[in-house]
Order: sequence, then C-alpha cells, then structure tokens
Amino acid sequence: MQIKLVDLEKQYFRYKTEIDNELRRVISSTHFIQGPQVKAFESELSKFVNIPFCISCGNGTDALQIALMACELQENAEIIIPAFSYVAPLEAAAILKLKPVLIDSDPTSFNIDPLKIPPLITSQTRAIIAVHLFGQACDMATIKKLTEKTGIKIIEDNAQSLGSEHILKQEKVTTGSIGDISTTSFFPSKVLGCFGDGGAIFTADNNLAQKIKMIANHGQAQKYQHELVGVNSRLDTIQAAVLSVKLKYLAEDISKRQKAAEFYNEKFAGIEEIVTPAISSGNSHVFHQYTLRIKKKRNDLRKFLEENGIPSMIYYPVPLHLQKAYSYLGYKKGDFPVAEMLAEEVLSLPMHPDLNPEELSYIANKLLAFFKA
Ligand SMILES: *Cc1c(COP(=O)(O)O)cnc(C)c1O
Repeated sequence: MQIKLVDLEKQYFRYKTEIDNELRRVISSTHFIQGPQVKAFESELSKFVNIPFCISCGNGTDALQIALMACELQENAEIIIPAFSYVAPLEAAAILKLKPVLIDSDPTSFNIDPLKIPPLITSQTRAIIAVHLFGQACDMATIKKLTEKTGIKIIEDNAQSLGSEHILKQEKVTTGSIGDISTTSFFPSKVLGCFGDGGAIFTADNNLAQKIKMIANHGQAQKYQHELVGVNSRLDTIQAAVLSVKLKYLAEDISKRQKAAEFYNEKFAGIEEIVTPAISSGNSHVFHQYTLRIKKKRNDLRKFLEENGIPSMIYYPVPLHLQKAYSYLGYKKGDFPVAEMLAEEVLSLPMHPDLNPEELSYIANKLLAFFKA
C-alpha cells in the first residue's frame, strides 16, 4: 500500500464542483486582486476565529512580518521566539533587525515552556511569539500572566492550530483570538490550505487592524497615498474563493483528523518506545501534525516505514538555534536541551481528513511490527 502524508487530491475531489464553480466565477470577473471574495472570506474567517478583524495577506511568514511591523518596534527590540519551531517567526524578526531571544519548549506539549520566560525578560523585551505548534495552544494563561502590565505584546502564530480551542479564565476561546495580534497560513498542507500561498492576520484592536491593512498594501489606505512603509502582501481573489469553500467544511475536517489521532493513540498505548501526543488540559487539538516521540531507533523506524510505503516527517530536525543563518545570535549546542532532544525523537505520521480505516490500520500495524520484531 502507498500512503500519502497529506492527501490534497482526495480533499479537492470532495469539493471539486463547488471549488471549480467559484474559480470560474473569479476568472470570468478578472477581479484577481482584492476582488469581493477576499472581503467575504475575511469576514467568514474572523467569525470562525471569533475575533473582530481579519486581514488577509500573501502567506503566513508575511503575516508575522506585518504583525511585527504594526507593533512599531525599535531596532534590536527583543522578541521571544521558540527554538523548536518552524523558522518563519525567527525569520520575520531577523529581517526587521529585531533581536530574537530564543526559548526552550516543554517536552510534553512541544510548545513554549512558560516557566522559562521570566529569566528572558529584560527592559528591551517587546513581544513574544507564541507558536501553537502541531495543533494545540500554548499555555496562554501563564504567558498572559507573565507579560501582564509589562507592555510586552503577545503575537500568536496560529499557522498550525487554526480551529483549536483553549480554556482561558474558565472560558472557552479559540486560538488566534487570545493575543494582541495573531497570524495564520493557508499553505496547501495546513489545516485550512489554499491552492498556493496565503495567510492572514487577526486582531481585536481597530486601530491596529487599520494599520495592518495599510502595511499589507504598500502602506496606503488610499491609492498612491503612502502613509506608512508597507509591503505588497495580498491574498489573491482566486485563493480567497477556494478558502471560502473549504472553510465551510473545516470543522468537519478537523473532527476527522481528531478521529484518526484517536485511532493512532489507542494503537500505540502502552508501547514503551512510543510517546503519543499529549493534549494539554483545557485544549482541543486540531492535529495539523500527529507527532510521536520515538525513544529508540527513530531513524531506523522511519526507513522501515518508507520501505513499506508509509511516508513520515521530522518536524523539525534542526532546532533554530543551530541553524547556520542564525549563528550570529551566538547560541550553541546545549543551550536548548528540550528542543535538541525533540529534534532527535519526533516523528510525524500521515495525517489528513481523508485517511480511511484501512490505511490507518496499515500504518499503525507496521509501526507496531517494527517494535515487536
Ligand atoms: C507554515 C508556518 C508558517 C509560515 O507560513 P507560510 O504561509 O508558509 O509562509 C509560520 N509559522 C508556522 C508555525 C508554520 O507552520
């Protein structure tokens, strides 16, 4: 059997007629930039995330850069960013000449370990980028408490956890609605993916929203009146049309991912070498990734799965403090022991809404066979 890590083809064929009709509509209108579908999608998505303002943009990395630009920070302002994460938050801070301050993760949730925040806070700390990794929220109550009255902005990188829920002060909230600004990505393999690149920025603050909107569109509110230094980062009308269709089915797709994860969890329970993903209390997990920790022979297991038609991925094989481009930050091996341990142990299995029971059994049984052999 040949399994896919993510099956975009099956997903497309589920909604083909609807998507094709919407695409045809955009093409016939030739309103390719800022067509009416863009505004409509932003409004639908802001309802889904339960936050007043959604501003779409070119991709999730731009979204982070624009969010940081909107905070109007001085050069060398310190930004706390997880070392075990995708590179985008670090890249966005570096490109703006801000000073990234890396932080280690919690080995159970894979997210920022909030207990490691206090020693990093200085008079120069201006923001923390809370990456909700793999599908669930960081410990936002603690992060909020630690940054309260400090003026430190919380930016949620929600590229992997759109649609997940979190309990904050006994209230159910959605990720992306908790910090000062949040961002997401519509890269095709994300939980809500488009047919190319796309992203969005969210805030509850009207002034901030207007500023973000201007920055994403050449710093202008009116054509040729450039009030701020901006960028060109817009969501194509075609992508907005695709996303509006897919958004209608997102909750259903997430519940299919959760069922697949439950199946895996049951199969792997009690296997000594495997640590299944833990859902932190008060969280719902949307399983952008189903990520195991493999205590022994991770790389051999990966090879064995590959030989059996099962792709898997290591997100992420090199923690950010050990990446060549960021060696100028002066970190060294040993600085973030949890990030380094996770890089050695993590393995993400095939995860998408269209995995059928036969495929799930096949994957799980091969994995078990490896450890029983
Ligand atoms: C995918 C991703 C991004 C960047 O999104 P792009 O649209 O690919 O630029 C940022 N942060 C995280 C955590 C991501 O997973």
